[in-house]
Order: sequence, then C-alpha cells, then structure tokens
Amino acid sequence: MLSGKVSLVTGASRGIGKAVAIKLASLGSDVAVVYHGNSEKAEETVRNIRESFGVKAIAYKADVSSYEETKELVKKIKEDFSHVDILVNNAGIVKDGLLAMMSEESFDSVIDTNLKGTFNMIRHVCPLMIRAKGGRIINISSVSAIIGNPGQANYSASKAGVIGLTKTAAKELAAKNITVNAVAPGFIKTDMTENIGEDNPLIQMIPLRRFGEVEEVAEAVAFLASSSYITGVVLKVDGGIAM
Ligand code: NAD
Repeated sequence: MLSGKVSLVTGASRGIGKAVAIKLASLGSDVAVVYHGNSEKAEETVRNIRESFGVKAIAYKADVSSYEETKELVKKIKEDFSHVDILVNNAGIVKDGLLAMMSEESFDSVIDTNLKGTFNMIRHVCPLMIRAKGGRIINISSVSAIIGNPGQANYSASKAGVIGLTKTAAKELAAKNITVNAVAPGFIKTDMTENIGEDNPLIQMIPLRRFGEVEEVAEAVAFLASSSYITGVVLKVDGGIAM
C-alpha cells in the first residue's frame, strides 16, 4: 500500500515511534528512523525493519529541538532517499510538575522539543513535499492538550500548540496536496507512562478500562498516512477518555 514511499519518523528508537516505523515499513514504505539518544536501539529498529520487510531503513541521530540540526538532518535524508512522502512528528518528552513549582527550564525544554521540534521538522520537510506536489504529515499530540492534566502545564501547552500548528499547516499546505493531521493518544504503555501502574485509579476514567498499546496508535498513523481526503483532524486514540 505504501511501496515506493519514504517515511520519516522522529523518536523512532522506542515506544510509539518505533511501532509507527515498523507499521509503515510493513505496508511497504522505506523509513528514515530518527533518534536522539540510544543509537543501539535505533540500529536494532532499523535491522528489524530491513529483515522483516525488505525495505530500506537508515537511522539518523538528531535533536528535533534544534533548527540547524533538523535542517542538516533533512538534507542528509534527501541525499539518501531523494524524497520524503510521510513525516511523522513523534519525538516528545515530559517534565511533569505542578504549575506553582514548575521551573523555567522544565517549561522551555518541553515546548522546545514537543512544539518547536514539530515546527522545525515541518519547516524543513515541507519544501520537499511542495516540490513533489504531495505529502502526508502526522503530528503526535496528546489528550492532555484537549482535556488538560494536572502536573502537565508545560506538556499540555506544547501538545495544544501542536494542534494549532497542525490546523494552520493543513490550511496552508492543502493547495499543495499535502495533508496535515494530528493523533492524540491517551494513556499508552511505553517508557513515558512506566510510572503509572495498571492498578492506578486513572484506569477507572478510561471507558475501555485499559491503557492502549503502541500498535493501536501506529494503526491510526498508518490510516492517516494512507488517506487522501482527511486533513486538519485530531484523531484521538484514547479508549474514550477524552470524549
Ligand atoms: P518515549 O519516551 O518512549 O519515546 C519518545 C521518543 O522521542 C524517544 O525515542 C526519544 O529519544 C525521542 N526524543 C525525545 N526528545 C527528543 C529530541 N529532542 N530529539 C529527537 N528525539 C527525541 O515516549 P512515547 O510514549 O513513545 O511517546 C511518543 C510520542 O507520543 C510523544 O510525543 C508523546 O508525547 C506522545 N504521547 C504519548 C503518550 C503515552 O501515553 N505514552 C500519550 C500521549 C502522547
């Protein structure tokens, strides 16, 4: 379904990003696996993709919060793959704390990675998509952006910013046949949520009464990557928590 396409997935060494990279590869897409810290895990994802699906996959180290690094990153990916058809902005961090005690550093670093990082990637990739006369951009937001979450002022602000960015980008780029959508996961089992136990009272707030799996988010991303007439939406993958 996606053969001949090139996908760029940020934060793809683990968690949701890894599942997305694997899902897109399983549909035939080549994949640029962007990671920040763990090169061993990124190389493992790349090996897994190549061996399982026979597509091209390369790992790239970059900090999405850096405008210059992401510019260089996209230049390298263009040299290696020649084009980018699907961009998935998944890299993200949390630095939770109550608003009354939150440090400036916690606020700034979360905004820089989650929101500015998404801008940086779109900024450098969209000229390639405009020249190619088409593309799909999928940004990973969060239900925290929609319903708020105590302790996550920085995170929910960054992810709400991602929704605003998604909608404006969708309107600006529609004329170029580029769709831009967001996926808003609820509680998904990854390193990011490892401190929340399965016996947490939060479970009672989820109508489906369980945390989500990374593959369930990857399915939503793959759906938007394959859709041609959906743009500017925020697709919740949250077991019903934010309805
Ligand atoms: P994770 O912590 O397992 O993975 C995050 C990934 O982002 C890692 O690969 C990390 O290396 C990468 N990353 C972090 N900072 C980076 C930077 N500056 N440059 C490049 N890469 C960087 O988290 P996850 O749970 O897989 O989350 C993936 C995305 O989904 C995030 O944007 C997160 O906010 C969002 N999300 C997660 C949940 C959840 O419940 N897990 C819920 C809603 C939204």
